[in-house]
Amino acid sequence: MSKFLPYSRQAIDEDDIASVRRALTSNFLTTGPEVKQFEQELQTALAVKHALAVNSGTAALHLAWRALGVGVAGLTIGDKVIVPSVTFLSAAVMAVLEGLELVFVDCDPDNGLMSAQNIRDAVANDGDANKIKAICVVHLNGQFADMAEIKKLADSNGWKIIEDACHAMGGKQIGMDGRYYPIGACHYSDITVFSLHAVKNITTGEGGIVTCNNDEWAMKMRDWRSHGMIRDRDRFDIQHLEANASWYHEMHEWGMNYRISDIQAALGRSQLKKLSKFIQARADIFALYRDLFASLSESACEKLQLLKLADGNGIAAWHLAVVLIDFNKVGKTRGAVMQELHEQGIGTQLHYLPIYRHRFFNEGAGKSEGNEPIILSGAETYARRALSLPIFYGMNRDDVMRVVNALKQICRL
Ligand SMILES: *Cc1c(COP(=O)(O)O)cnc(C)c1O
Repeated sequence: MSKFLPYSRQAIDEDDIASVRRALTSNFLTTGPEVKQFEQELQTALAVKHALAVNSGTAALHLAWRALGVGVAGLTIGDKVIVPSVTFLSAAVMAVLEGLELVFVDCDPDNGLMSAQNIRDAVANDGDANKIKAICVVHLNGQFADMAEIKKLADSNGWKIIEDACHAMGGKQIGMDGRYYPIGACHYSDITVFSLHAVKNITTGEGGIVTCNNDEWAMKMRDWRSHGMIRDRDRFDIQHLEANASWYHEMHEWGMNYRISDIQAALGRSQLKKLSKFIQARADIFALYRDLFASLSESACEKLQLLKLADGNGIAAWHLAVVLIDFNKVGKTRGAVMQELHEQGIGTQLHYLPIYRHRFFNEGAGKSEGNEPIILSGAETYARRALSLPIFYGMNRDDVMRVVNALKQICRL
């Protein structure tokens, strides 16, 4: 049988191994020079003032929500924040960790992206919308929401914006001036967050990045990343002889250990060099899927089609290749289709069950007014049909054709 095609996988080459070996044989496995250099290279690549490398995308999201709480105008416990419904759990859970209340927003049933209109609807349905202070937007599958419209809406309400770009590393948005900006530059947002988990566009095994252009937030996030420990003399409360000692430090606010190791940062540095190559390969694979699905008959398209493109707002980073299948019309469950694909050596995945369906949200943190379970029709329609097909650097033309042919056969197109 031919090789197994997972829905996603890492691409590690000899340069990556050499980079990790360099870190492993250096004097520092952590808090060494690799992390600083990785961050500087990220700042250049993403055209942003501050990039912090941390040990997961979830840690990055926690730091981001907490940073939005800095200062008198910042978020406080009990404030509400708008979060996506079709996304990974972290953005919403980390907001809850910061004492924020969730307002789930619906999305386009054909690509899972939230629109400004979805947000207006969520606000209109919310009992105390005046408590809303921020919004988190996810760039699902590596496509982008209409950030220009969302930013206008956010600005007119005084909301802060987090971009959850865990899928979108390497993508480029068209800015307000018509120019291209790397995702991570925070052109339309206050803070952007990435994950460096193994299946993401580049990887450090586990890892994350948070970017912003705000000096105070960056300083605080650096403190919180490492237990809240301050080693900068200018910031000490106590100015005595001991404060001049190299071991001296102060803690003014509690922190975590969200540090990434130098071993991981070294891997991140060599992966970052290949980001544009990876993104181009993903774009080519996606384009091939698009061509193959475009040649299906009209009756076949009623059963199955590729997700809708969000054309015109930038260059997507095709993290996932999602096909939308009407499983009723096909006459098989999603589980059965996935199983049959698996038997043919093809891995698939669902991204995602609407997160408000999890008990944690539906009975607790995100509970709708009046205790009815939250149901958002766009999110339900998207999630009922979505299936992520294999897309990763190293997949070739034949692999893509094998996936499409298997799908055609299994769905009897
Ligand atoms: C992967 C992912 C995360 C979490 O990142 P980790 O590095 O796994 O903690 C959060 N949000 C989205 C949209 C993701 O895809």
